[in-house]
Order: sequence, then C-alpha cells, then structure tokens
Amino acid sequence: MIRKTRLYTPGPTPLLPAAQFAMAAADMHHRTPEFRALFQKVLEQLKIFVGTQNDVLLLSSSGTGAMEAAVTNLTSPGDKVLVLTAGKFGERWTGLTKAFGCVPDVVSAPYGQTFDLAEVRAALKPEHKAVFVQATETSTAVRHDIEAIAKLIKEAGSQALLVVDGITGLGTTHFDVDGWGIDVLIGGSQKAVMIPPGLAYLSVSERAWTAMETTKNPRYYFDLRKERKNAAKGESAYTPAVALIAGLGAALDYIAGQAGGDLEKGRIALVNNAQVNAEATRAGLVALGFTLFAPTAPAAAATAVAVPEGMDSSDVVKALKMRFALVAANGQGEMRGKLFRVAHLGFFDYLDTIALLGAMEHIAKDTLGLPVKFGQAVAAAQEVYASTTKA
Ligand SMILES: *Cc1c(COP(=O)(O)O)cnc(C)c1O
Repeated sequence: MIRKTRLYTPGPTPLLPAAQFAMAAADMHHRTPEFRALFQKVLEQLKIFVGTQNDVLLLSSSGTGAMEAAVTNLTSPGDKVLVLTAGKFGERWTGLTKAFGCVPDVVSAPYGQTFDLAEVRAALKPEHKAVFVQATETSTAVRHDIEAIAKLIKEAGSQALLVVDGITGLGTTHFDVDGWGIDVLIGGSQKAVMIPPGLAYLSVSERAWTAMETTKNPRYYFDLRKERKNAAKGESAYTPAVALIAGLGAALDYIAGQAGGDLEKGRIALVNNAQVNAEATRAGLVALGFTLFAPTAPAAAATAVAVPEGMDSSDVVKALKMRFALVAANGQGEMRGKLFRVAHLGFFDYLDTIALLGAMEHIAKDTLGLPVKFGQAVAAAQEVYASTTKA
C-alpha cells in the first residue's frame, strides 16, 4: 500500500505548503529594498506572534543559537545564575551557562515532572543575575508554569532577568510576556511556525538591553545590540537565511488567516489547536492502556508516552516508521527505549491525530501484543473533539 511520510516529531514539524512555495520563490539579495520590506514585515509579525511590545530579533541559527545569545549577551564570567531543569533542554542551560563562565545554581525536577515552586523560591538568591528555564521541556513533554515562576521572582524582589526557552512553548501555550515580565523569550523555526530548521527568534526587554551595556561575556555573531541596530534599518548584521524568512512570513500570514487575518487571534487559535490535539492524543493512548510519561503537567507541544515495563519504545518508533512511514521521536538520553514522543505543535490538525491513533492501535496490538479492540483509541479522541469543538 502507499505510505505517506508523516512527521510527528517535536521539531522538525510538518511544513506548511504555502511556506514551501514562498521559500522556493525567495530569490533575492539581502541588501535590497525587497528584502528590507520582507524583513521588517516579518519582525512586526513576530512581535504579535510572541505577544510583546519588546524588540523581537531574528537570528539565522537553530534555537540553541538564541539560547547561547541570551547567555553571552546577558552575563559576565563569574556571574551567579539560577537554572531550572527538568530534562535534556534544561540541562542545555546548565551546559551553556557553565561554558561561558557563569556559576549556575540548579533546581531540578525528575524527568516527567515540573518544579516544586517552593524549592525554586528557596533557591533564588539576591546575587542571581538571571534565571534560565524552558516553557515546555520537549524531552519529557512537560509544561512549566512560567507565570508562577515570573511572579515568584518579582515577589522575591529579585533583579534577576528571566530567560525563557519557549522554543516549543510558543504556539502551544499562552504567554503574557510584558505583563509577567519575561525578559527574553526564545522561539525556533522548526517548531510551531511550520518551516524548516535554521531560524531562531527572541524577544528582548528594556531591562535586558540595559544589562547588555555592562555584561562582559564574549560575543560576535550573536551580538544582539548589533542585530538590533541593523534590524532598525530592516537588515540583519550578516547574510540571513533569506528563504526561511520568506517562508516564515508566509507561515505567519497563514496563522493570521486562521482568524480572518488577525495574527493575535490566529496565534490563540494555533495554541488551542495544539491543546485539543494533545488532549485527544492523551485520551486515545490512555484508552489503549498506555501510561503518560508526564501526567501531572502535560505539554500541548508534544506527548510523551511510557511503554509498558519490559517493552522497548524503540520498537514502537521503528514499527511506526516501517508500517506507516510515520516518524515519531524516541526518548532522549537515558529516556531512550522508555518512552516515545509525538508532536502537536504547528501544522497538525485533528485528522492527523486520528491517523496517529489509528496507527497506534495496530502497533499496540501487533508490536506490543496489548489486548486492543480496534476503534478504542480513535473513539476516545473523538469524544474529546466532540466535547471541545462546535459542529
Ligand atoms: C528544539 C528545542 C530546542 C532547540 O534545539 P535546536 O536543535 O538548537 O533548534 C531548544 N529547546 C527546546 C525546548 C526545544 O524543543
């Protein structure tokens, strides 16, 4: 039978056709009025997508480039910082801050869980220059409560800058960037904005710009003050990923199109889309007898599913690929073999969820030998869809 390749990985995610056409047609030089018009339009759209009055910058790099930029621009060697980590991406903050000479205090939550806020509060010290955290920890599919963390920092009277990796949080959770006081919020192109890897974007608060005037870590390619100066003229400091920027513009137009051209409402619709698909997926997989890896604070960006004791999640990932050309993600690091992950962020619709659950019924039965009644997972997802959307 024909098998269509379907990406269900939490980055890269499925590509929006309109963005692919825009990328193919983006034959332009980056020091021209045509590009400046495109770049300025996309930066304006990104401010609405992120939901902030702060500057939003666009970098030609994967998401980690913007994470590195946050560390190098906002810190000096020897700075004490607080890292909140609950998985592989949290651990990246620890590695990055250490690589640039910071001294991180680390609050960790076990894989599959979010932080104990009292523990965060107790760990926060007046000398901390910045707090680094994920909005959603993609390796475990956990959502962290950024609003509560931001509030806790404010209430403690801390001057620490709040730096949030929202690479899978943007487009899957609601943020009030300026209201909560998020100083840096980072996104990546291969996640909810439906285009290939290669772009990172980040919002930068006034407090963060002020801090940059005196911080001493080395930076060159990721010099945010230089990018800000160039962005004011509609350009980037170096040759940008022009085609990806054209694709991003088309994707943000599409997201706005979900709400009659209103990008702010379109963003909310995109978040709700991910949330309904995530809830339907969880219901379907639980109905099949699976255990969620992150039951207490599940992210809408992706779902992590534990396989029953004695079974290997690699077999599920392999079987989905072999039988249905469906690409799911295994666990990362120590979690490999223990869980698999499927995404809901970006260009996924309800019928993608139904397709996934239909495939999982076959895999649960044939690969894992679970007692499956066909329709079980699909029906549970349909109940969620029926109760959350109007006909
Ligand atoms: C995908 C992802 C990243 C960025 O990874 P890159 O490979 O550098 O794009 C960072 N944080 C989270 C939470 C992610 O999901």
